[in-house]
Amino acid sequence: MFVLAKGGEPLMPCHPARARELLGRGRAVVARQAPFTIRLKHRTRAGSDVAGVQLRLDPGSKATGIAVTDECPNGTAEGRSGLARQGLIAIELRHRGRQIHGGMMRRADYRRRRRSANLRHRAPRHHNRTRPVGWLPPSLRHRIDSTMSLVTRLCRYAPVVEIHVEQVAFDTASFAGVGQPDGLSESTRAGSEIREFLLARWNRSCTYCDATGVPLNIEHVRPKRHGGSDRVTNLVLACVPCNQAKGTLPVEQFLADRPTRLERVIAQLRKPLHDVAVMNATGCQLVRTLASTGVPVHAWSGGRTRWNRAVTGLPKSHTLDALATGLLDHDRGDAIVRVPAHILVVTSTGRGAYARTTPDRFGFPRLRRPRRKIHHGFSTGDLVRASVPGGKWAGNWVGRIAVRASGQHRLTTLTSRFDVSHRNLRLLQRADGHTYGFAPEIRLSGERGPA
Ligand SMILES: [Zn+2]
Repeated sequence: MFVLAKGGEPLMPCHPARARELLGRGRAVVARQAPFTIRLKHRTRAGSDVAGVQLRLDPGSKATGIAVTDECPNGTAEGRSGLARQGLIAIELRHRGRQIHGGMMRRADYRRRRRSANLRHRAPRHHNRTRPVGWLPPSLRHRIDSTMSLVTRLCRYAPVVEIHVEQVAFDTASFAGVGQPDGLSESTRAGSEIREFLLARWNRSCTYCDATGVPLNIEHVRPKRHGGSDRVTNLVLACVPCNQAKGTLPVEQFLADRPTRLERVIAQLRKPLHDVAVMNATGCQLVRTLASTGVPVHAWSGGRTRWNRAVTGLPKSHTLDALATGLLDHDRGDAIVRVPAHILVVTSTGRGAYARTTPDRFGFPRLRRPRRKIHHGFSTGDLVRASVPGGKWAGNWVGRIAVRASGQHRLTTLTSRFDVSHRNLRLLQRADGHTYGFAPEIRLSGERGPA
């Protein structure tokens, strides 16, 4: 739970049980419902011990994992001196890129029809369409904007001193230093990074026979005996039979009777690491934008996250990826000692449509919407408390509303959905373009149970 000082400055987050106790004894008030934040009545920032927290982000196409962590020396664990990383709060931010893409396509369809309704085709007279540098399609732009909006808010609720973000899928710079596996060292990590890269590049299948679901070896196209290098441009994946059959033969000789495959393998090998760069474009822009918060930003590769997760034995989820982002020196004894049992799920819903008519599937107006968005003091998406005096739904409820001009607003709670008069509603929090909910973290295997 986020905690604010008397003056509104962020303090170290606390456990939900501690927040309940403070609220119960009247020493704190609720400052915000979601994400749940309390403000202490008497404690000031100057009189508190604030060590600072890290924000860790794992940006994804559908959802971004965010973890609020703190790190302290891990002196107690069998005399080693590594850092103990604690996950304090886990958040999954679900994006609405697909809805935005769908909306843009629908608009393009309407415009296409209207243009062609009255016009014959003319070739463009000037090819003068340009886009500003750094332009991103709206669906990708939204990913950066919504992440930034949440990060800026989290920086207000928690004393964030560092931001760690997974920027690139593969750390291509580390490919040079690959070596033989020897425990948990840096060269093994580079090896696992290369392996992940090759799996993605060769579609998780054998380069020579397309076999999938079998053990794949890293194979030198030009054998090392004939002067082949260890660079990724000389590496492919091969199943065990293919790997043994090829042995130290040059690839031209091995694939002599399959010329189309030989051509395809060579073409794929010569293809520059371009697609990796395109995949990294959104990541670069996110890192640049995050830097504008004024908090130091550190960018890491996805291969390192996977490596951290593998060594600490964590399963895969957006929030656990975020927790494992950044430097963990496994030789020194760094460890993740606490994983939040529940995650806050923040879903982007947008702030309603600009269009004032809803068309049917043929494009004819079906429903006229009112110009106003606020009815009887409420707008769609507001978090409210309802006190229903009688009838089937009698009792107290908390949920989000969709407003109607009549004043009979539709209330959606965790379990039910019904209409309530605006007279029986009390506002808890204004709509901010998101809905909030809770979900349990993936059940953790092994001895490290959820904290
Ligand atoms: Zn094969």
